[in-house]
Amino acid sequence: MSKKTYGKEFGFQTRAVHTGNDVDGETGAIKRPIVMANSYELPYDPSDLNWSGADKNIYTRNGGSNQRYLEEKLASLSGAELSQGDDCVVLGSGVSALAGLFFSLLKSGDHVVFSSVTYIAVYRLLNELFNKKFNVETTIVDTSDLAAVRKAVRPNTRLIHIETPGNPAITISDIRAIAAIAHEQGALLSVDNTFASPYNQRPLELGADFSVESLTKYINGHGDSMGGAIIGKKEQLDQIRSQAQINLGGVISPFNAWLIMRGSVTLPLRMRQHNENALKAAEYLEGIPSVRFVAYPGLKSHRGHQVAASQMSPGYGGVLSFGLKADHDTHNRFVSHLRVITSAVSLGHDESLIVFLGEKDERQYLYPPEFHDGFFRFSLGIEDPEDIIGDIDQALRKTGLL
Ligand SMILES: *Cc1c(COP(=O)(O)O)cnc(C)c1O
Repeated sequence: MSKKTYGKEFGFQTRAVHTGNDVDGETGAIKRPIVMANSYELPYDPSDLNWSGADKNIYTRNGGSNQRYLEEKLASLSGAELSQGDDCVVLGSGVSALAGLFFSLLKSGDHVVFSSVTYIAVYRLLNELFNKKFNVETTIVDTSDLAAVRKAVRPNTRLIHIETPGNPAITISDIRAIAAIAHEQGALLSVDNTFASPYNQRPLELGADFSVESLTKYINGHGDSMGGAIIGKKEQLDQIRSQAQINLGGVISPFNAWLIMRGSVTLPLRMRQHNENALKAAEYLEGIPSVRFVAYPGLKSHRGHQVAASQMSPGYGGVLSFGLKADHDTHNRFVSHLRVITSAVSLGHDESLIVFLGEKDERQYLYPPEFHDGFFRFSLGIEDPEDIIGDIDQALRKTGLL
């Protein structure tokens, strides 16, 4: 832990700059260095060491200092307090965080409820691997419908896992209400908070037991390294750390932890621009007759707008989805005319990214009907909003849609 501590008396931006950093004891450098060594010198008699422990520097898969610095910062930004029994585990990717959470919490005979709109790996892990191979019962529910969540919960429900806003249909689920439903039944609630980032939404403060982040997205923010994090109670995270990181091997590279630490300094500054750009682009798209629908929780027309407004602040994130009144190939032609916005997967990067999700997604039956005919997931970068909107405008014209 840093000698300098930055509690909640300091603002989000101050904590994004300072938490987890300290003066390096050896050189006096005011930035902590990257430690790339795999192994650490053993004590005179190592025979009492726990080779699977995370409490002592032994081997980087047990834990490294760059990882630990980042964990301090992410706990703080997520509204967790290390001194109050909270903790954070940083792993090699968002999916390793999700897999680590599921492998550590679930056993055969348990039941899991999860959102119909989630990152694809959640569906693969829970509905295929855990269900078919490990005998974990799963129920997929539209978690924006509280009555459906209540109905899905059973006495053996161990976990409710939601994603809000959900990838890719931007559905909104009520974290406070679902936390209450879970806790009434003795179940736990995990929330994938990747689309909002802790700048806009902090699930632990709304009653969730775990907040999961793909650091690959907004928290790193520059599209150049992968990581994942789980924030929650230390008691449960100790188990997740030993299973997911030490035994399953989902450790993050110290270099990536360092890059994410650096990227995260500007999280609040970048998020303000992402929020602004996404709202402006959503409003622009809503006014275009050849746009079939726009899904962005910041729009009053979004069916989850009120719930989003009650749990997201100051903004609604940088991702929206939209569809065109056009056939399959016209969607691809539109993308081929873009010059500022790049056609690539991922989101939360500095640059704007768009991906055409065609009609063949096997999970389409789980999405609202407007998502059945092919649509775009659009991650607004931090470019000038006029250039992003101008780029869409000129591409629509070249495609004959404006
Ligand atoms: C990208 C993403 C993940 C997976 O994160 P990786 O770092 O790519 O493994 C999980 N959840 C959501 C919502 C995502 O967008």
